[in-house]
Amino acid sequence: MEKILFLAHTQPDGTLPKVALEAASAASDLAKKISGSDLIVAVIGKNAKAAVKQFGSLAAEKFLTVSGNEFETSRYSSDVVALEAIARQAAATFVMAPTTSRFSRVLPGVCQRLEGRIDTHVSGMDVKGEQLTIQRWYYRQRMMATLSRRTRPWFLVVDSGVFEALQGTAKEVAVEEVKVSLPQDIQRTKVTGYESAASGGAETIRPDAEILLVAGAGWTKKQSDGQVHIKEAGELILNFITKNQASLGSSKSLVDQSSEGQEVLSFMTHLNQVGQTGSTPRHAKGLSTCCHGEEPHVVGWRFINDRRAINLDPNCGWAQGKADVLYVADAFEVMAKINKLQANKSLV
Ligand SMILES: Cc1cc2nc3c(=O)[nH]c(=O)nc-3n(C[C@H](O)[C@H](O)[C@H](O)COP(=O)(O)OP(=O)(O)OC[C@H]3O[C@@H](n4cnc5c(N)ncnc54)[C@H](O)[C@@H]3O)c2cc1C
Repeated sequence: MEKILFLAHTQPDGTLPKVALEAASAASDLAKKISGSDLIVAVIGKNAKAAVKQFGSLAAEKFLTVSGNEFETSRYSSDVVALEAIARQAAATFVMAPTTSRFSRVLPGVCQRLEGRIDTHVSGMDVKGEQLTIQRWYYRQRMMATLSRRTRPWFLVVDSGVFEALQGTAKEVAVEEVKVSLPQDIQRTKVTGYESAASGGAETIRPDAEILLVAGAGWTKKQSDGQVHIKEAGELILNFITKNQASLGSSKSLVDQSSEGQEVLSFMTHLNQVGQTGSTPRHAKGLSTCCHGEEPHVVGWRFINDRRAINLDPNCGWAQGKADVLYVADAFEVMAKINKLQANKSLV
C-alpha cells in the first residue's frame, strides 16, 4: 500500500509559501487516485503546529510536525535529520514537496539517506491503475518527458504554478510531534539572517507574483527626441513592480548591457533574464515592454498564460503570433499612464 507523504516548511514569518499549498493539492489528488493509499501531512518550522492547521481540510491519515527555533530557517544539517525522521515515521513510499530553495537544498540528501529516487521540477502527474507517471521538462523546456519509477521512496518535488493551490480554511487537527535529536555538531552552522529579494522583487523572478513585467533593451535606446532616458525608464519599471508586487523579467540584451559598458538599469541582473538561456517562469500574466520578441527570448514565455507586449514596431516578433495582445505604442507613455491610473488601485 502506498504511503504518500506531503512535506511543507514554514517561512521565517511563520506563513507557508503558496507553492506548498499547490503541492498539497497535488498530493491530495494523488492519494485519491491511487486506491488504498494513505496521505500523511508533515510540516517543519518554528511553529509548525500552528501552520499544519492550514492543511486540516485534507483527508490525511495523520499530521506530523517538527517544531522549534532550530527549524525556523533553512539549515541543511538539521533539516536533513528532521525530514529523514519524518519520512521514516511515515514509512513513506512517495514523498511530495514544493520546489522552494530550502527543500531544493535538502531533499536530495534526505532521498539519499533513504536510498530512494528523486525527481525535481515535476510539472504533471497521471495515474493509470496503480502506476504513477510524472511529467518533467528537459533541455530548457523544449522536451517533455513522461516517466515512472519502481524504486521507493520516490521523491517528487513539484514546480510552482502547475497545480491549483489548496483552498479551504484552517482546521484543528490531531498532531504528532516527531522526535528529532540534534547533537551540537549538527547545530554548528548558525543562521544569522535571511535576506529576501527587495520588496517588489527587482533582483530576481518572484514565482508567486501574479504578473510578470519584462523589460527589453528598448528602454535604454535613444527615443524620438534623440536622447536616452534611463532614469525615467527605471522609475517607470520600479513603480509598476512595487505597486503590483510584480515579478521583474528582462531580455538578454538588456542584462548584457552592463558587461558591454553601456548605461544600464542598475537593478537588473542576469537573474532577471527570461528565455532560452534564462528562466521559464509560470506567472498568470506577462507584459513585455520595449522587447522585440525574438524566439530565444519568447521560448521562456511558454508557461505564461496571458501574454501582452508593448512595442513601437508593428512588425516586431510579438506581432508574429507570439503575444495575445500587442499594443503598438510607446512603452514610456503607456507605463506612465498605467502607473498614474494605478496610483490608487491595483490592476491585477
Ligand atoms: C543562443 C542564444 C540564446 C539566447 N537566449 C536568450 C534568452 O534567454 N533571453 C533573451 O531575451 N534573449 C536571448 N537571446 C537573444 C535574443 O535573440 C535577442 O537578441 C534579445 O532577446 C533581444 O532583446 P530585446 O528585444 O530586449 O532588444 P532589441 O532586439 O534591441 O529590441 C528592442 C525593442 O524595443 C523596442 N522599443 C524601443 N523603444 C521603445 C519604446 N519607447 N516603446 C516600445 N518599444 C520600444 C524596439 O522597437 C525594439 O523592438 C539569445 C540569443 C542566442 C543566439
